[in-house]
Amino acid sequence: MTKLTAAITVHSLEQALTAAARAAELGADLVEFRIDTFADDPKAVTELVQRSALPCIITCRPTWEGGAYDGDEQTRISLLEHAGIGPRKPVYIDLELIAYQKSANLRQKISLVVDDPDRPRQTDTGLILSSHDFDGRPNDLLRKVKEMADTPLCRVVKVAWHARSLRDNLEAFELIRQQVKPMVALCMGECGLASRVLAKKFGALLTFASIDEEEGTAPGQPTLGEIKGLYRWDALDSDTRVFGVIGHPVGHSMSPPVHNAGFDAAGVNGVYLPMPVPPEYEHFKATVSSWIAQPGLHFGGASVTIPHKENLLRFVKERGGAGGEVEPLAERIGAANTLHVRDDGSLYACNTDYAAALDAVCDGLSIQRDGLAGRRVAVIGAGGAARAVVAGFAHYGARVTVYNRTTEKAQALAEQFEATAAPLAELSGSEADVYINCTPIGMHPNVDASPFDIINHQSESTHSLGPGVVVFDTIYNPVQTRLLRTAAEAGCATIPGTEMFVRQAAAQFKLWTGKDAPCDVFRDVLAAHLTNKQS
Ligand code: NAP
Repeated sequence: MTKLTAAITVHSLEQALTAAARAAELGADLVEFRIDTFADDPKAVTELVQRSALPCIITCRPTWEGGAYDGDEQTRISLLEHAGIGPRKPVYIDLELIAYQKSANLRQKISLVVDDPDRPRQTDTGLILSSHDFDGRPNDLLRKVKEMADTPLCRVVKVAWHARSLRDNLEAFELIRQQVKPMVALCMGECGLASRVLAKKFGALLTFASIDEEEGTAPGQPTLGEIKGLYRWDALDSDTRVFGVIGHPVGHSMSPPVHNAGFDAAGVNGVYLPMPVPPEYEHFKATVSSWIAQPGLHFGGASVTIPHKENLLRFVKERGGAGGEVEPLAERIGAANTLHVRDDGSLYACNTDYAAALDAVCDGLSIQRDGLAGRRVAVIGAGGAARAVVAGFAHYGARVTVYNRTTEKAQALAEQFEATAAPLAELSGSEADVYINCTPIGMHPNVDASPFDIINHQSESTHSLGPGVVVFDTIYNPVQTRLLRTAAEAGCATIPGTEMFVRQAAAQFKLWTGKDAPCDVFRDVLAAHLTNKQS
């Protein structure tokens, strides 16, 4: 079973022991004590091993391998020897392949401390041979892995490198799949998260996590709380299906907490990860193709956000025939936000944004989609969100008017979907059954703004907000925008942007899992997330 290992930088004996106790509370199986800057007190290293709340790895990483130890090798060896002096031994000692190969003295000394197949004796300590590259995948990665595996004293092979793209993770998975000795293969940086979380799925010996955000020992290391809570560590196994949100950037996305909580609540064996992919189509294509093709990954699909919504359509269309199907309305909109990799390997791309907006408004009006025919819908904005909304409402026969600051954009959008275009100022005299704000006006931090304020500056407002009218703001931060508060005061039914978010995610969930999404769980997670963001 893959060990969840808390990485602890040792500053003092008591600090490190407290951190180890905390790691145990947070559910770690193992700790790695990084004694790089703790070189003055070898006896304290012995005591650290004896008193640690969890079994431990001892590592003293030199500066030339990305660590902080800048003393001589003699002192370093002495520190490692002290780690193994007491009755309780470290489970592993980690040493860099380069150091091991370079020094016969170090090889001889370390062979006295760790388990040696040629010299059976009483020690429980295994040798991890490791190699790190903080710039990218080293050209001689495979050679290094082989040399480590071929070293008789080496019990565990560990490689870590900075991931340049999501594809690096796949090589880490392959190394673990093909292991001849227990293996740790991790990618550092934002793109390497999958290798850390999915280490368990592929059967790595261990993965590292930090106790909190400040304490990480490598770039991209998640916290114990994130890996256990957000990324469902305890539920992961070799059959876990993998999903994610593809975008650039995706660090801010609320989809991982929402979908992972949904998998928990619905008992789905899945995990959902952020998937940062640079904007160009070639990156999108190469990443998605390779993730789909990766043996044992069970990549089931993704939410796709800016700037890849058009790329997704193109990608699935290029697959063509039985290999790829695009929802017709997504094709008309020119953007898809959902990829489903079906069990037979074929792909399906669709747009759950428009469906979410339609259903949120239909619920507000207490009607089915067919009941939208003939209703007057005022859409404010003519960007990406407006496009999906206009297409959806026009498709069901609503009489849509697009109001936008740049009139030409409103005209172009309206022409494509048989809607009407109007300058933003005309919103003040408008009469509609439904108003939908698809601009960022009123979004955090400009929470005192409202699209109707802008109109009021230009002319006297006579817009028809009142009972029977539905006002839907696609903004979800804040949940209750100025527009929604004004509309509610005027007696309108109001719908916050969180409803669109929840419903588009719910439609994805249903597509991927075949189960109804736990929408109340989605709403709670989203609310908590948004509250945290604002505090
Ligand atoms: P977009 O493509 O950049 O379009 C923005 C639109 O807003 C454009 O029509 C733009 O007018 C207009 N606009 C921007 N600033 C304005 C201002 N100060 N005054 C008047 N008009 C202004 O953005 P988008 O992707 O469509 O997103 C728009 C909104 O939808 C965002 O606030 C986002 O939060 C929301 N959204 C919500 C969800 C959800 O799930 N709830 C999903 C997607 C989007 P011009 O054409 O004149 O530039």
